[in-house]
Amino acid sequence: MDEKVSVLVVEDEAYISRLFDAVLSAAGYRVTIAGNGISAAAILSSNMVDLLVLDLGLPDMDGLEVLRGLRAWSNIPVIVVSARELEKDKILALDLGADDYITKPFSAPELLARMRAALRRTASGAHDEAYTVGDLCVDFNKRRVTVAGVPVKLTHVEYRIVEMIARQPGCVLTYAQIIRGVWGPYAPADDNRILRVNMANIRRKIEADNVSPKYILTEIGVGYRMTGP
Ligand code: CA
Repeated sequence: MDEKVSVLVVEDEAYISRLFDAVLSAAGYRVTIAGNGISAAAILSSNMVDLLVLDLGLPDMDGLEVLRGLRAWSNIPVIVVSARELEKDKILALDLGADDYITKPFSAPELLARMRAALRRTASGAHDEAYTVGDLCVDFNKRRVTVAGVPVKLTHVEYRIVEMIARQPGCVLTYAQIIRGVWGPYAPADDNRILRVNMANIRRKIEADNVSPKYILTEIGVGYRMTGP
């Protein structure tokens, strides 16, 4: 299988996004363009993006808000390509979880080299990264959950909920944290009905007894917690 790496470019200036599209498509990437932060967050939440190229000056919000929302639930590589060239802007973006920072005007070969480096780091860093407790194993690299070695068929949303909770075993994640992490920063975090429905489905799939679960525990009125190792 040789799937193309999927890159989302968030860029509001049409001639620059056409340039990105041409350069990245020619280099063999599958390219999607978003012209503002809201559509970027929507595309990212589909979880089909492998790498994000992010402009900071967007018409509806600061690109850093897109980054902040994404980092609540995803570790995909992010390369900021911005006209902001002050050191403090770079430090802020890197502290928020950007993997790299390039100032405009950018060189296409340099961008491609930095993308390759970021993708290599992710691939090696993600190697055999998994959380196991009892018979449950959440493989963050393969994005797969197994119980006693048997793969569990989860939807994208269900997987992301499990991944988020499993990445911080023993810690309580509040309903609002999970909702924002999975459905994005604009999801109504005070309404946890959809989360509860998804959790019921997850438990049916991974727990031997979904009335008294042993992997994902409920902290009543607060949120959920993955059993610690
Ligand atoms: Ca811009």
